[in-house]
Amino acid sequence: MKRVYNFSAGPAVLPEEVLKEAAEEMLDYKGSGMSVMEMSHRSKVYDTIIKEAEADLRELMNIPDNYKVLFLQGGASQFFAEVPMNMMKNKKAGYIVTGQWAKKAYQEAKIYGEAVELASSADKTFSYIPDCSDLPITDDMDYVYICENNTIYGTKFKTLPNTKGKDLVADVSSCFLSEPVDVSKYAVIYGGVQKNVGPAGCVIAIIRDDLITDDVLPGTPTMLKWKTQADADSLYNTPPCYTIYICGKVFKWLKKMGGLEAMKELNEKKAKILYDFLDSSKLFKGTVEKESRSLMNVPFVTGNEELDAKFVKEAKEAGFENLKGHRTVGGMRASIYNAMPIEGVEALVKFMKDFESKNA
Ligand SMILES: *Cc1c(COP(=O)(O)O)cnc(C)c1O
Repeated sequence: MKRVYNFSAGPAVLPEEVLKEAAEEMLDYKGSGMSVMEMSHRSKVYDTIIKEAEADLRELMNIPDNYKVLFLQGGASQFFAEVPMNMMKNKKAGYIVTGQWAKKAYQEAKIYGEAVELASSADKTFSYIPDCSDLPITDDMDYVYICENNTIYGTKFKTLPNTKGKDLVADVSSCFLSEPVDVSKYAVIYGGVQKNVGPAGCVIAIIRDDLITDDVLPGTPTMLKWKTQADADSLYNTPPCYTIYICGKVFKWLKKMGGLEAMKELNEKKAKILYDFLDSSKLFKGTVEKESRSLMNVPFVTGNEELDAKFVKEAKEAGFENLKGHRTVGGMRASIYNAMPIEGVEALVKFMKDFESKNA
């Protein structure tokens, strides 16, 4: 068996320990005589799995009691619609557009009401986070929306926007559990788990409980009403059982690693190795303004498309997978999520140095 260093933006690398444990439990989960894939979501065994997953997540993120945790399907993209359906009482909301995912959420919200672009970094191909200290937020807005870490462009909000008292909704898909957060500063935190948490198929949403009501936009499907899911503890219908089970294992792995403070330290260390090299390299350049750099997604270029392609090809041959940049951006992108070991980043930088000396 050979495992590569997988720099995919998502679905992405998972902790090897978690995969091994899952493999061991594949045919017989803890004496149940069956795989977690084969069990009823209403069984006692599964109930323990989902309850423990929630408890561990609450502990890791220090989630206050007045927030619900939901395990949902439909991906982050479906949640773009769920936010206005459940929150747009005045049919007006503010969006900060810092990349493609933020833009998609903004465009989706326009189907349901007036979505206002409060700020954007489109003028410089989303290579920075705009100043959000004094945005044109009006009293009639139901919420302010951000994509906290921009997976494609590699930027991250280092301070949350001043929402002038309005509820903050954040898509954290690609920075979920990468560092501690103060949940109480948000009304809703959500993300698809396939970037930094688990396999594809589940969105985790952390929602302040006053936002979970029957007062949703007319026509909201039963399944997309947060109250439906909250009242049933995410078991209104069949949840993505196996994905939740693996997420639960990742939560336990994170606790063992020392929790989110320790992960932040490790992620900063990993990112620094790569950014320091990019800042000193004569061939490779980071594409993001320094103050806005993501710890998770690191885009870079050589400035020459042919050389970029050569790099991606040779890197792949050397066991560094999925370094090609997003199809809309080009160049390269290394996603260095929680589960990417520091050795992977060190080996990548060594490979980049060799490539540089051969191609300078
Ligand atoms: C990947 C991604 C999405 C889309 O996720 P899906 O689960 O595929 O819908 C949305 N937002 C961010 C920040 C992402 O990285």
